[in-house]
Amino acid sequence: MMTNRVLNFAAGPAAIPEAVLKQAQHELLNWRDTGMSILEVGHRTAVFQDYLAEIQAELRQLLTIPTNYHILFMPGGGQGQFFSVPMNLIGRTGQADYLDTGIWSHKAALQAKPYGQVNIVASNATNPFVMPKTTEWQCAKDAAYFYYCPNETISGLMLYDIPQVAVPLIADMSSCILMKPFTVADYGLIFSVSQKMLGTSGISLVIVREELLGEALPITPDIFNYQKQAKESSCLNSPPIYAIYLMELVVKWTLQQGGLVAMEECNQAKAKLLYDYIDNSQFYYNKIDPVYRSLMNITFTTNDEAKDTAFWQTAAKQGLMGLKGHKLLGGLRASCYNTISIGDVKRLIAFMQDFAQ
Ligand SMILES: *Cc1c(COP(=O)(O)O)cnc(C)c1O
Repeated sequence: MMTNRVLNFAAGPAAIPEAVLKQAQHELLNWRDTGMSILEVGHRTAVFQDYLAEIQAELRQLLTIPTNYHILFMPGGGQGQFFSVPMNLIGRTGQADYLDTGIWSHKAALQAKPYGQVNIVASNATNPFVMPKTTEWQCAKDAAYFYYCPNETISGLMLYDIPQVAVPLIADMSSCILMKPFTVADYGLIFSVSQKMLGTSGISLVIVREELLGEALPITPDIFNYQKQAKESSCLNSPPIYAIYLMELVVKWTLQQGGLVAMEECNQAKAKLLYDYIDNSQFYYNKIDPVYRSLMNITFTTNDEAKDTAFWQTAAKQGLMGLKGHKLLGGLRASCYNTISIGDVKRLIAFMQDFAQ
């Protein structure tokens, strides 16, 4: 059996805590004394419905989710939400505001277009490493919601301040949901893919305020309808049970580590180590205004494409994986979600020093 696991800095699918994988392995053949694998358990059985209630309770504890918010496990991953959000929520006024800060929010705005009028509040399309200034935002008069992506996973650009808008705020928190404590009540809806911070791919976690439901466009298919899924405990059809199960294990693991307060402390320390090293290196560069640098996805480059390629190739040979930047932007990227420890970041920096030499 292979015991030498590599260090995985990939943006997603991303590293999963080893303790979680070991537990999943340990109980694969007989889950909770059912005599069968979780993969074989029916989603309408009492044991699975109880399990769903359990993960919801753990999520409420971890993220301090108020009781007037539904917790949904929705199909279609992150991009499934790019059309589900407008289908369910744009109907109230027929238009919505989108803050375009990078590839993910840009895609979300494009995917919303068939369902209503999309107003681009501001855009950094000409330079993905710059945050559009708040003073230049142009909101619509009557938007059903304001959509943004607080952490653009690909460029490593993060908006820490919560947009101060008069309409329900929708946030794609796919690469930052468990990064630090935040106030759910500031948002109308939050969603996150499962393969970055919450286990493996297959679902999006959706946290939505009760009062926003009930205005879905008539064309909304049932399985993408938040209200209908809420009524059926996200089991309107057969859900991807294993993705829900891994999410539960990750949520429990995060609680055991001290919850989001402990995560933030560690994430701040990791990012500071790495950015400080990059800034002082004179070999690696990060192009983002320090105010907007992501704590989770740390992008850098040697400013030389051939050297960047040699970097991730050499790193991979030494068991440091996933450091190649996204194909659309090139360069390098170290994603440092909660599974990555301070020791892991120190190992990366040691490699960066070696490589620079
Ligand atoms: C990865 C990612 C997505 C897309 O996720 P899929 O599940 O692959 O569709 C959407 N938004 C953000 C911020 C992401 O990081």
